[in-house]
Amino acid sequence: MNTSIPNGINNVQAVQTLVKRAVIIGGGIGGLTTAIALQQRGIEAHVYEAAPEIHAVGAGIWVAPNALTVFQRLGFIDKVLAGGFSVKSSCIADTTGRVIQRFSPAEMGASGLPLVPIHRAVLQEILLAQLAPGTLHLGKRCAFVEQGVNSVKESFEDASAVTGDILIGADGIRSVVRTALFGDANYRYSGQTCWRSIVNYSMPNGQAATEMWSTKPGVRLGYSHVNAKQVYFYATACAPHSGKDALGTVKSHLAEIYRDFPLYLREMLSAAEESQIIRNDIWDFTPIPSWHEGRVVLVGDAAHATTPNMGQGGCQAVEDGFALAEALSLETSVEAAFKRYESMRMKKAQYVVNTSYRIGKLTNWGGAKARLRNMAAGFAPKSAAKRQFQYLFNLEF
Ligand SMILES: Cc1cc2nc3c(=O)[nH]c(=O)nc-3n(C[C@H](O)[C@H](O)[C@H](O)COP(=O)(O)OP(=O)(O)OC[C@H]3O[C@@H](n4cnc5c(N)ncnc54)[C@H](O)[C@@H]3O)c2cc1C
Repeated sequence: MNTSIPNGINNVQAVQTLVKRAVIIGGGIGGLTTAIALQQRGIEAHVYEAAPEIHAVGAGIWVAPNALTVFQRLGFIDKVLAGGFSVKSSCIADTTGRVIQRFSPAEMGASGLPLVPIHRAVLQEILLAQLAPGTLHLGKRCAFVEQGVNSVKESFEDASAVTGDILIGADGIRSVVRTALFGDANYRYSGQTCWRSIVNYSMPNGQAATEMWSTKPGVRLGYSHVNAKQVYFYATACAPHSGKDALGTVKSHLAEIYRDFPLYLREMLSAAEESQIIRNDIWDFTPIPSWHEGRVVLVGDAAHATTPNMGQGGCQAVEDGFALAEALSLETSVEAAFKRYESMRMKKAQYVVNTSYRIGKLTNWGGAKARLRNMAAGFAPKSAAKRQFQYLFNLEF
């Protein structure tokens, strides 16, 4: 994809005139939330998604109080709370069940909102239901962006094209929009691959969201209910990237990796349906110094993909969408609005990327170093952890 940006972009018209129509590339959590937030402010926002149909991966996502606060402001938090499973506490434990760190999300955030694990398909349905009819366009893969003085033209691989006052790249970690603006990102492989699924199972302690750390390199198992009858799990291990599981071998592979985990977790893994287990390598990229150029701006993973070690990638994308809409309503030029958006969001998003990257490195340790890490994490001052969660869970705008 190419992009051309002329000089002298007109920054003096009122926002209402400048941004009547926004083109959003990508219909993930970030793109959909951005569209909802813009539409609620009277901007005609259209989402163009490459996939021919909306098909959420068969996994869950933990929605933290900061993203819930955005959904509250957008008026549909009740649907998310009803569609997911509010957990009372969250903890990191070792494989003997000894708690290394425990926190209560509702006590950490000013909002008092819980942590809500939810099936991704359910969250996507909820987001889609908030969109104005006819504003989601499927099978539209972004190919070329051309910036004019007062507009952006977006061409798709099917040779169709649309024009908007602004273009929002919400096209994920491998964003073609970002690459067109700023070139290749410095992608970093975490060293870990991750299996995820939703399983029909009932946890002995159904109220908690737990991540269990083993002392084998990269081996962790996170789990929580997403509704009364189903559990979402993610399971990580160190492995070279791009590995594939031979057909029919995933469950036996997982059984081997997690053989020293508690019985109920081994039972949960064995209750999973082989065909419903997805595998992804965990990547991020080094934070970039700017998220906008001319009339094009980035949100979500396209701007700041993070490893999932803080469970915040999707939540940060949700914050982006709301902040961008807010910035556009407060400024009188696109340039000023995009700058305001960056100043509202960049520091926190980069904090998440960097902290999560460091946590990922720690979880790659094995043996004696890992035992030491598990012990040290238990002694970390509670006040520091509380400050961190408060920063994550509160919205600053
Ligand atoms: C193992 C794992 C666990 C995670 N757990 C959590 C969690 O518990 N909580 C949390 O908050 N986050 C979590 N995350 C992170 C979260 O999934 C992402 O941060 C989030 O999905 C990013 O949303 P997005 O909309 O920015 O990008 P994406 O979800 O990647 O969506 C991008 C969309 O753009 C489309 N697209 C791509 N290219 C084009 C193109 N050229 N033209 C048109 N469309 C295009 C794609 O098809 C896709 O639909 C996890 C991630 C992983 C890998």
